[in-house]
Amino acid sequence: MVKINTQKCIGCGSCCQCCPCQAITMVNNKPKADAKKCIGCGSCCQCCPLKLIKLSV
Ligand code: SF4
Ligand code: SF4
Repeated sequence: MVKINTQKCIGCGSCCQCCPCQAITMVNNKPKADAKKCIGCGSCCQCCPLKLIKLSV
């Protein structure tokens, strides 16, 4: 599962686009992660230009 700092998010959508599992959707221009779809690959953490996403347990 991932933890996203949505307060600082600029709504670019990169995390949504780079997730191989479609686990992140944009809702009102903010990313929302689906824990059931996330495989914890860390791709979104790398994709975010502001590094706002961290893997969490
Ligand atoms: S860790 Fe991987 S599977 Fe999970 S939301 Fe990020 S890109 Fe998608
Ligand atoms: S990649 Fe980062 S800044 Fe862009 S929408 Fe996702 S969390 Fe927000």
